[in-house]
Amino acid sequence: MPDRITALFFELFSGLPRQGPGTTVNTQRALGFVPDIGPRTRVLDIGCGTGAQTLVLAASTPAHIVAIDTHPPFVDALNREARRLGITVRLQARVADMRSLDFADGSFDLIWCEGAIYNAGVERGLRDWHRLLSRNGHVALTEVCWRKPSPPAECVAFWNREYPAIRSTSALLEAVEGCGYTIVSHFPLPASAWWDDYYRPLQDNINAFRERYRNAPDAQELAGQCQHEIDIWHAHSEFYGYEFLVLQAR
Ligand code: SAH
Repeated sequence: MPDRITALFFELFSGLPRQGPGTTVNTQRALGFVPDIGPRTRVLDIGCGTGAQTLVLAASTPAHIVAIDTHPPFVDALNREARRLGITVRLQARVADMRSLDFADGSFDLIWCEGAIYNAGVERGLRDWHRLLSRNGHVALTEVCWRKPSPPAECVAFWNREYPAIRSTSALLEAVEGCGYTIVSHFPLPASAWWDDYYRPLQDNINAFRERYRNAPDAQELAGQCQHEIDIWHAHSEFYGYEFLVLQAR
């Protein structure tokens, strides 16, 4: 992306409680499938964004957490919050690329990744990260899936353009098992996980952004693309959704 568009993109997504679908309750539900989390448990949160789920992990467990993201302002925001909460001893955020993580083998007992593994690709991510886990370590991730056959053409066209790797829940589960993991549990994120903390505040941002950049065609086009994503969701969300997967390394 050219620099101006990248800057506009991050402006459009700034100030949101999260940068993808998810909720506190669903993070806690997934956490409930991971046994024996204690003060010696080491967690890596990949693609943490501003840390919505990282802070839930920190509040719900005594674990040590490293959170990574490629976007420095997100990492800074999370570290500021960790300082404010006085938990920097066990929560540190760093700038790093999920496609080239240089932690030593066996550095973590649990890898968390909400709404972000698509940036590496599910198979590539899971295969690369396997070595970072301790023996029989766990991974919890969310990924978008087709939920029903025969989605309408405009919905298929949207996903073919945005993320052609989208597949059915059963195809996703099968692929994950092929990467050296056993499925501990999985459940769909409800519609509220898309709306409450993600699309609703994003819609407010889009409205204000459109007003602010009334005379800038490139900004309007960008806002239009985001609006289209939300419109597709309103019209067709019964056909797709995020699945939360909790896995154990074999
Ligand atoms: N987990 C957060 C953010 C999800 S959005 C939440 O659910 O709210 C996806 C995040 O992945 C963004 O913060 C983006 O900056 C980050 N990201 C994109 N490519 C990345 C990469 N190659 N390595 C690490 N993080 C990446």
